Amino acid sequence: MKTMPADRARVESSRHVFTGHVFIVDVDRVHLPHGVAVDMEVVRHPPSVVLIPVEADERIVLVRQYRYAVNRWLWELPAGSVDEGESLDTAASRECAEEIGRWPGSIEPLGSFYPSPGFCDEVMVFFRLTGLRLPKPDDPAVHQDPDEHLEIRSFALHEIQALIRTGDILDMKTIAGISLIA
Ligand SMILES: [Mg+2]
Repeated sequence: MKTMPADRARVESSRHVFTGHVFIVDVDRVHLPHGVAVDMEVVRHPPSVVLIPVEADERIVLVRQYRYAVNRWLWELPAGSVDEGESLDTAASRECAEEIGRWPGSIEPLGSFYPSPGFCDEVMVFFRLTGLRLPKPDDPAVHQDPDEHLEIRSFALHEIQALIRTGDILDMKTIAGISLIA
């Protein structure tokens, strides 16, 4: 009788090979569900929130920033990592204030995706943010990350779709997020 493949991998051993401030890297000796034993290199990354901030006139706010890893400037949906112990909603509001300088009145979850499941456990959780307003004195203080210097601009949905078609938007989470509202 043929045995069914296991549901999950069985981990024989695991070692941290790198610990940074953005992610850690593990090398795990595992037996995969179909029985093969291999060393898997895995980036362990906290969850991220990806924001689709929609203004009162339905325009969508994107940010343009220099991405060192690919050495170019990219237009993207605002996004960021969830802090330890922070709720997804709180992270979405905080990132909205940090990256585009406004707080959302309403937050609607749209779904979750794995951006790079071949080697990374990060999950990206997408939110539609509306009721955007300027900060008030009693709002929590916000800070910009030193590696972030953002240009902020709002676009009509069809303008963003055209930029995707022409290859002027190259960030995959942005393309995924726009597909959720188009
Ligand atoms: Mg960010």
